[in-house]
Parts: sequence; structure tokens; C-alpha cells
Amino acid sequence: MKKFIFILTIIYILTGCNKKACKNVIGPPSGNSLKVLLIGIDGCRTDAFRAANTPHFDSLAASGIRCWYVDRGPYTVSVPGWSTILHGVFPAKHGLIKNSFEGNHYAQYPDVFTIAKKVHPDWQLFSLTNWDGFMKVTSNDTYCESFSNDAAVAAKAVEVLNKDNPDILLLHFDETDAAGHSSGFSPTNREYIKTIENIDEYAGSIFTAIQHREQVAAEKWLIIVCTDHGGEGTSHGDQDDIPQTRFVFFIVNGPGIPAFDKTSAANTDLLPTMLKYLNISVDSSAGLDGVALY
Ligand SMILES: [Zn+2]
Repeated sequence: MKKFIFILTIIYILTGCNKKACKNVIGPPSGNSLKVLLIGIDGCRTDAFRAANTPHFDSLAASGIRCWYVDRGPYTVSVPGWSTILHGVFPAKHGLIKNSFEGNHYAQYPDVFTIAKKVHPDWQLFSLTNWDGFMKVTSNDTYCESFSNDAAVAAKAVEVLNKDNPDILLLHFDETDAAGHSSGFSPTNREYIKTIENIDEYAGSIFTAIQHREQVAAEKWLIIVCTDHGGEGTSHGDQDDIPQTRFVFFIVNGPGIPAFDKTSAANTDLLPTMLKYLNISVDSSAGLDGVALY
């Protein structure tokens, strides 16, 4: 048994994190009215996203910033991809080039929760996912939980929005990536497209809950829809330079943010955009690789 614990300890030290779930004390509302919702769709190709029937995402895109040519950086798998989005730097800085957290430079390039918590210790930071690894990309979560399907992630998100007071809510949906691996990352694969349409339907319920909060609590929500990589065939690893894998999309919508088409951008622009919206300043010594989108 001692040997087992020793091995676990070594794994923890090597990987830098072993978070399974976190349920810390959920306090009263922070008083902050500016909020962020990030909807992450794992492995969602741009052409498939645009081909899918997604009325809720379409209306978000029509009144926000949309970019259909976003560089997600090299090492086209999930851990580097979500690390780039939530830590605001490419793999050359965060140090992750495969689906492992070993050797990360998270301490030097902290995630959005860690940055926010430093300035606002009372903020409530939620991460809900359908893939355990997603919880390990952030630290300082108030609450994080992994579910076995996308519908359960969405149901919990609605519950959180109705009962709790999140300042930042990260949602990660994984069934699009799973469908890509099982039957093909392609706009012509009905099974793959259906997962995107399901997430749009979930987003409808989530947006209704947000609109209710905006009306009764005078909150103002920034909403981001993004992905960590695309794919080709039934794969995406080692496809660093294939456009359909490396170049992705995002939508950024919030009060005071103009609606326009951005011709090119990078996933590293999302963290500076969130921080600008939240009035959290970071100086150039932070070494972020992106810039705010507005
Ligand atoms: Zn992924």
C-alpha cells in the first residue's frame, strides 16, 4: 500500500496535477455584475460547425465577433489546445505538446481562474466538463465536476445558473470529438454534425438561464464559443499543419462588444479578451501571446 501511495505521489509531482473534482464552499454573490461563459466544443471543425443547424449559435455570431480562421497553434490535441485557450499562451510557453500535463509551465503562465482569483478572491469560478482532463487545465476553481455525457454538463450548467452565482463558468462538451474519432471529423458525417446541433440545443437552455439573470440581477454576460482543434478522417493528432485541424473558429458576444467578422485570429486572443471584459489588467511581463479582440 505504501508503495502504491509513493507511486501516486510521484505521478502527482510529475504531472503537476491530479484533480478529479473540486467542490469548495460556494459563497454569496460576489457583487460583480460582469460575467463570463465559455462554451468549449471539443474537436469541432469549422466547416462542420457552419454546416450544422445551430440557431442559437447563429444568433450569437450575428451580434458578436465571429472568426472562422483562428490559429489554435501546433500540437493539435486537447491538453495543449485547452491550455492555450485558458492560459493565453502557445505550447512554446505552456510547455504541453501531447495529452499529458507533465512538464507544464502553468505556474509561470497561470489560467484564467488563477488570474481572476488573485484580483477577486471572492469570485466564484465553475468548470463543468465531460472529460476529466479539462478540470486539470484550471486551478483555484470554486466548483468543478466531470460528467459522463454532454447533456449532463448542460443540465448542471442550467442548475448552477439558476441556483448559484458564478462569475466565470467554463463548459466543456466532448461528444463532438468522440463522434469524430468514431465515424469521422467531417461536415458530411451526420453523426458528427448531430453532436454540434445537440450542443446548440443545450446552449438554448443555457442562454435562457443567462437572460433571466441579466433581467433580474442586472448582470452582463460575455459569451464565448470555441474549440481546441478540428480533425480529418478519424484523427487529429500530428495534424499540426492541416487547415481543417489547426485552424478553428470562435464567437465572442457581449454587451458593448461590436459585431464584426474578424478575418484571422488566434486562440490565445481569448484570454486577453476575457480579462479586458472583466476589467482585469495584465502587464506585458505576463508574456501572453494574444491580444483582446475589441
Ligand atoms: Zn480535443
